[in-house]
Amino acid sequence: MSVFHLDVLTAEQTMLSVDADALVATTVEGEVGILPGHVPLVALLAPGELRVTTGKEVQFLAVSGGFLQVVGHEVVVLADACERADEIDVDRAEDARRRAEAFLQAGAAEADSTVAEAALRRAIVRLGVAERYQRRRWQRSAGRDSGER
Ligand code: ATP
Repeated sequence: MSVFHLDVLTAEQTMLSVDADALVATTVEGEVGILPGHVPLVALLAPGELRVTTGKEVQFLAVSGGFLQVVGHEVVVLADACERADEIDVDRAEDARRRAEAFLQAGAAEADSTVAEAALRRAIVRLGVAERYQRRRWQRSAGRDSGER
């Protein structure tokens, strides 16, 4: 089966470099699904989830924004900030969410509200990705315990 090469990069590091079967990313215009042979594309990423399918594995990452580029068999995600699901510090994201919500409830000036809304979106995405990852792990271990595959 054909695959494409996916690099997920930040300014600091390579988060992922794999041959992937499929990618789902969140752009400013909505979710986009990339399969081998996708037409060339450059898209602006919104804070959201990346779902990367490699064989039977699906990996989840949180992305705070950036760019997606598809050229032939090469797909690049250049992210502002990116965390693999298992790296997400849930307490930190909860704190960030609470801080942003408190700020917005206090009725900040418009420019400050925009910053707080963006921080809130990043926190919600991180919490969502971490929760889906934990749920999947739990379902897998429950399946193993009951002999399911
Ligand atoms: P915080 O207020 O907690 O710093 P933030 O949304 O302002 O959150 P960013 O500016 O998006 O943070 O990211 C700064 C760095 O910290 C990036 O390297 C990012 O991957 C990392 N980071 C932010 N929040 C978390 C988290 N909850 N778990 C793991 N890494 C995180």
